[in-house]
Amino acid sequence: MLDLTYDTPAPKVISGARDDWELVIGLEVHAQVSSRAKLFSGASTRFGAEPNSNVAFVDAGMPGMLPVINEECVAQAVRTGLGLKAEINLVSAFDRKNYFYPDLPQGYQISQLYHPIVGEGEVLVEMGDGTARKVRIERIHLEQDAGKSIHDMDPNMSFVDLNRTGVALMEIVSRPDIRGPEEAAAYVVKLRQILRYLGTCDGNMQNGNLRADVNVSVCRPGDYERYQETQDFSHLGTRCEIKNMNSMRFIQAAIDYEARRQIAILEDGGEIVQETRLYDPDKNETRSMRSKEEAHDYRYFPDPDLLPLEIEQAWVDDLAQHLPELPDAKKARFIADFNLSDYDASVLTAEAENAAYFEEVAAIGDGKLAANWVINELFGRLKRDGDKPIGQSPVSPTQLGSIIALIQKGDISGKIAKDLFEIVYTEGGDPAAIVEERGMKQVTDTGALEAAVDEIIAANPAQVEKARANPKLAGWFVGQVMKATGGKANPKAVNEIVASKLAL
Ligand code: ADP
Ligand code: MG
Repeated sequence: MLDLTYDTPAPKVISGARDDWELVIGLEVHAQVSSRAKLFSGASTRFGAEPNSNVAFVDAGMPGMLPVINEECVAQAVRTGLGLKAEINLVSAFDRKNYFYPDLPQGYQISQLYHPIVGEGEVLVEMGDGTARKVRIERIHLEQDAGKSIHDMDPNMSFVDLNRTGVALMEIVSRPDIRGPEEAAAYVVKLRQILRYLGTCDGNMQNGNLRADVNVSVCRPGDYERYQETQDFSHLGTRCEIKNMNSMRFIQAAIDYEARRQIAILEDGGEIVQETRLYDPDKNETRSMRSKEEAHDYRYFPDPDLLPLEIEQAWVDDLAQHLPELPDAKKARFIADFNLSDYDASVLTAEAENAAYFEEVAAIGDGKLAANWVINELFGRLKRDGDKPIGQSPVSPTQLGSIIALIQKGDISGKIAKDLFEIVYTEGGDPAAIVEERGMKQVTDTGALEAAVDEIIAANPAQVEKARANPKLAGWFVGQVMKATGGKANPKAVNEIVASKLAL
């Protein structure tokens, strides 16, 4: 296998092979719609329920059962489309995708091939180095999930759990605008973030609620630009599709492996066969699952049980009006309103809950200080505390806000504030009251500080000589005063007093 590296920041040209190659990637993301009931039945979607307990007759494919569309699932797809700045199709339709599989009792999946509910949109993908790229969305359609076949419970039998059968999925199809493994992962991260903000999918990849089919091809430099100009796919290389990826790390590793595999074949004079492949994380390789020749013929046709889905513009407008503030807008606002760095704003807006917490803190104390405290102290502490989510933080935003307000007022130093934070974290209580009760208030009384400085100067004549020769050493005296006052001296005041007493 070739040993390849990608040039950065735009990971485009792959070097290490004999010739230069570029990667082209398009993702089909399956996102489970957050909804209490399934797409066409009233059965519950609850994860982890007793096998086959959440199954309506229609999910089990009983004869004569008719699907009835769940309005909430449609609303969720529309919200998702709006969140991705996409075209909403007021008329869409459901098609049957026919295939036989034990976990698909209907014998077909209801999907939307010809007329999806959502058309073209976009995702702004931010890379670690601060650059951003736009990835176009081709379409989003609604479809049913299949059930689960279980092969590892018995040596002679397989089992089927139909709880997931008929749960609504959104398939979000990107254009082949992604140019490298990191970018592919960053795209999924951003998409997941937007879905979670919208509340349309919980993004839980471990449970399979968000998974991606990754299409990968390689081409020669210049070919992608020709594709962009003409939108003619014949400028691109033949793609392989890696199915069902549910981890950012595996997505990157699989793309990396697949690029090397394809380049090695092409440089050997071979041809890429369009096929579906599976990634094996244990071996870190992709393996052929089925080639295009053996691809299913799904015999798609419009589902005769379902009328075309017609929605009204007024309903769409109403959903649009009630969308929450989305990550890009929130991040821009945090930078503008609180003067945060791009990085801090990204960290704080990664999850809507974190952003809401931060805003509550920033409403009480200074925004920049609030950002530092939430990112460094609070997140760090929660991580050490068994990776607690912010919703379970023992320190409320009001408590953290008042700790910050005490620093700003000059009542406590930054160092004491950390001790105070730990007390509030472990014991709870009102920060201002704790400071009073435990005598943690900063000493700003100049008289007392001057006396402390005088004492230390008198006791250390040699250090005084040194500091006079090299003013940088004055810090030693500041340190001694801090020590003598148990960290409660106001460092700024001490600095000034030390400088004047030493006549620096
Ligand atoms: P299918 O449904 O057969 O998988 P689609 O036309 O829906 O086919 O495309 C699936 C995905 O493949 C899309 O995300 C698209 O962007 C991507 N894709 C298409 N051509 C290429 C290519 N040459 N290289 C990489 N990805 C591609
Ligand atoms: Mg596909």
